[in-house]
Amino acid sequence: MTDPRRAIPRTDAVLAEPRVAAAVAQLGRAVVKAAVGRAQREAREGVLTPDGVVEAVLAALPPGPSSLRPVINATGVVVHTNLGRAPLSRAAARAVADAAGCADVEFDLVTGKRTQRGRGALAALRTAVPDAGDVHVVNNNAAALLLCAMVLAPGKEIVVSRGELVEIGDGFRIPDLLTSAGARLREVGTTNRTHLRDYAEAVGDGTGFVLRVHPSNFRVTGFTSAPDVGELAGLGVPLVVDIGSGLLSPHPLLPDEPDAAGALRAGAALVTASGDKLLGGPQAGLLLGEAGLVHRLRRHPAARALRVDKLALAALEATLLGPTPPVRQALEVDARRLRDRAELLVKALVEQGIDAAVVDSVAAVGGGGAPGVELPSAAVSLPERWAGALRVDRTPVVGRVERGRCLLDLRTVDPAEDERLCQAVLRCG
Ligand SMILES: *Cc1c(COP(=O)(O)O)cnc(C)c1O
Repeated sequence: MTDPRRAIPRTDAVLAEPRVAAAVAQLGRAVVKAAVGRAQREAREGVLTPDGVVEAVLAALPPGPSSLRPVINATGVVVHTNLGRAPLSRAAARAVADAAGCADVEFDLVTGKRTQRGRGALAALRTAVPDAGDVHVVNNNAAALLLCAMVLAPGKEIVVSRGELVEIGDGFRIPDLLTSAGARLREVGTTNRTHLRDYAEAVGDGTGFVLRVHPSNFRVTGFTSAPDVGELAGLGVPLVVDIGSGLLSPHPLLPDEPDAAGALRAGAALVTASGDKLLGGPQAGLLLGEAGLVHRLRRHPAARALRVDKLALAALEATLLGPTPPVRQALEVDARRLRDRAELLVKALVEQGIDAAVVDSVAAVGGGGAPGVELPSAAVSLPERWAGALRVDRTPVVGRVERGRCLLDLRTVDPAEDERLCQAVLRCG
């Protein structure tokens, strides 16, 4: 009798199998070879039959070329930092794919000469905010603030209200960021109330700029007061306004959220904002304001270290020029449409014997802005055990658990994903 282990396929034979060869092209040889080695070992140990090796290799391969998995955000948190903040529009994703190879990011195809990096994205931003004398884009809003501090306040003071010393997340704090650039903070006012005279008394020869930071992830209510941007702009030193969420113009659903155009019109010298919050684009830091200041920011040596990459420039331009990005759609969609979708999904699930129900839900903008704004929504309610199972499904879905039920909030789910969402729920049944 021959030893069945001698029938175990050799590594090169497994790698030559067409589906395995396709995986090598997708994922790289090392990853696939490691899976082949494991399957062969299992066959030697008798855990697998030799003719099961190829299938075992295919089953063990990682689902994608990186460890990042596409996730369906059913949390009801529109800008979810842990899920990558703003999902890109299809147009922006296409722009990223186009820019992924060699692209004319700093090259003029007509003249064959070097030209301004990311000029398309910058032009789109200028067009979107005509009140800005000029614009610049860096890695993120934290980088934009850092650059302002390095250019306008090295060895000088940044005057800021005690009510605006914000921790942005993961332990990072705006005051620490600013002092790390070699500026000193001059804190004025109190947590709940700061007056124009507090600023005026602090401003002097040693002032680099006055900073207004939008409290984007918390709210102080009650006995509060702060001067408006227009008043702060009249103190005789540059006013930098960190609006946080990246609204370029006012949004009717978010009346308390500051916007870039409004801040500039009120007299801000510079406005900083994130690209991947309410703007709905890639991670980026937007700087808009007086042309002379923007020029100085752009020419500072550190600007190179804070530079934004070509993929983000491509996505930003496509977000500014292209169709309504997913964040805006999720923000603006009518709750009745969400309810209709939830009813269709629940009907399909109940037909398969699943304990599903439609419930009203309250979605939120998220850490990215507009704290306290409640967005009426609809969710599919399931037994709690679905929450964990859905996260590790081959289509990972992240919902939220409320009072012992797993809720899948449809405000943050692209309607084109409803079918995949339904299949995932059925698989976890
Ligand atoms: C989110 C936020 C930041 C940080 O922005 P990143 O783009 O994440 O660096 C800074 N300031 C405010 C007010 C914010 O809301």
